Amino acid sequence: MSSKALIRVLPINVANKIAAGEVVDRPSSIVKELMENAIDASATQVDVEITAGGRKLVSVSDNGAGMNRDDAILSVERHATSKIHDVDDIERIATLGFRGEALAAIASVSRFRLVTCTKGEDAGTEVVITGGKIQDVRDFGAPVGTQIEVRDIFFNVPARRKFLRSYETEMSHVRDEFITQALAHCATGMSLKVDGRATYNLARKSTLADRLHDLFGSSYLKSLRDIGHSHAGVKVAGFASLPVATRSDRNEIYVFINGRPTSAPVVSNAIREGYRTLIPGDRFPSVFLFVEMDSSLVDVNVHPTKKEVRFRNPGDVRDAVIAAIRRALVAKDDPLLRPAGQGKDRPEPPQAAVTQLLIDNLPPTRVFNYPRIPQAPDGRIPPPAVPSATQKTSGTESAPQGMPGGTAPWSWCRVLGQIGKLYVLMETEDGLVLVDPHAAHERVLFEKYLGAIHKGRVDVQTLLIPETVELKPKDAIVVRKNQDLLKKMGFGISEFGADTFVVDALPSCFAGAAPSSILAEAAHNIEDAGSRGGKERSREEAIAQAACKAAVKARDRLNLDEIEKLVVELGKAEMPYTCPHGRPTVVFMSFSEINRKFGRE
Ligand code: ADP
Ligand code: MG
Repeated sequence: MSSKALIRVLPINVANKIAAGEVVDRPSSIVKELMENAIDASATQVDVEITAGGRKLVSVSDNGAGMNRDDAILSVERHATSKIHDVDDIERIATLGFRGEALAAIASVSRFRLVTCTKGEDAGTEVVITGGKIQDVRDFGAPVGTQIEVRDIFFNVPARRKFLRSYETEMSHVRDEFITQALAHCATGMSLKVDGRATYNLARKSTLADRLHDLFGSSYLKSLRDIGHSHAGVKVAGFASLPVATRSDRNEIYVFINGRPTSAPVVSNAIREGYRTLIPGDRFPSVFLFVEMDSSLVDVNVHPTKKEVRFRNPGDVRDAVIAAIRRALVAKDDPLLRPAGQGKDRPEPPQAAVTQLLIDNLPPTRVFNYPRIPQAPDGRIPPPAVPSATQKTSGTESAPQGMPGGTAPWSWCRVLGQIGKLYVLMETEDGLVLVDPHAAHERVLFEKYLGAIHKGRVDVQTLLIPETVELKPKDAIVVRKNQDLLKKMGFGISEFGADTFVVDALPSCFAGAAPSSILAEAAHNIEDAGSRGGKERSREEAIAQAACKAAVKARDRLNLDEIEKLVVELGKAEMPYTCPHGRPTVVFMSFSEINRKFGRE
């Protein structure tokens, strides 16, 4: 008696569900397959909509060729494709899809709806499938093109549903897939809507530069260099980031082989090699690399998701990519670009070429004269500082003799420029100094003003139009109490009934500042001073603080002359290191600190 047969052929929908796992593992892979189908159908516009990270809905509409009713029904069958006809076609694949698996796979693990219409047809077709079973096929009015809605992914495969990650994770995969497709097909208009909100809207007929601009913003492009190079039938184009703009992850390395997003290890290694010695080993560039070659020289049929490829001549691809990147980043006489065969020990790239490259690509700044400004009273300009690791760089040793009390923070300085539209960058004999010009200005004004008061010589400026200032009752009481002191300090102030005062003169160093903000702030400061506020000296300081703050606030941006005057005056201040409110005016980085950071000590 024969035993019961154990082997059975799986029902088609079970087989599809299992196979689906290879093609569809998360919402972003649906986005990929549907967008690629739209591109293969010659769409000029592809609109993507996502809800709940793609768990609820992934919808892709295109204005491509569409399908007639028979094709629409066939398209969701496994191994149904219009793109190849026999096995030889695999040798020269020009479309993105060819395996005829995606729609069948997607439809088998979701609630799937396809609406499509070809040119010249009276009516379009709607196909509704739930978990791989066709529910409904009917005529449906629709514009030429195809719309596919995929809802409730893995609703019938709990084992896979469990592997879906958080909203953020799925969403970031979806966004990355959209960006990848957008970069691969710049001529196609594309949009992405996330939970009903328009996230990207990318114009048709864009260049790669336009796309990068639309996706990442205008300043991003400035950190990139154009790539263009051909070698042994391999054409490489795109953009590569300058060595100054690196990342801690490889998320911005996009590689396209014959227009297909790809992660070929040969190419990744070549990119690494291209950047060797230009960026630290633990940093990654941003690269948008388009490699084109005869399609018979690439095998894209290595993996169901088509993300990997195999090259007939990997060496040529590698050489072309390395040369393309080096050419984009380093001057033409880079020894790495010379014909091979000069020994295995590759020389480092010439430092001067790299430096020039960096200089060429600095953002535009104002031109400074770089004068050395001596702080010492004898006006002697010291020799330039040499930031050698062996040099002793303690401030007291290098300060020239005869400095005023030895308190000046530097004996000379030169202003190099301004960064972040604010901080002043200077070189001094001890290293690099960053100055907060607002804080510095407050300090300088504060000392000048208090000095003048104590000498009884405050310059006063009459206002053309006296200003009426209304204060809060609490502040008004303080100001009223201190009216005599304010007058002594150069404020022309009189009461105008209730909580209102008239100011008709200001100390001239504060001309331009708003009397209302000086008085309100002064009242706060005096109150904050608490019991110390009883002392005239600390009330004076409280008023001076307020006036300096208002005066600096009212100032426009400083020009070079003003900056240089300011740093000289700051150097002469009694307390140059902080503003009257105690915030730092300067941040130092000594040469020894810099040497240490560069590992030269
Ligand atoms: P493949 O893309 O590998 O051929 P798919 O399962 O993704 O397999 O698609 C099956 C077929 O359905 C395609 O070959 C194509 O003929 C048709 N098709 C899919 N999507 C579209 C679309 N957006 N517009 C027109 N035809 C499509
Ligand atoms: Mg496809």
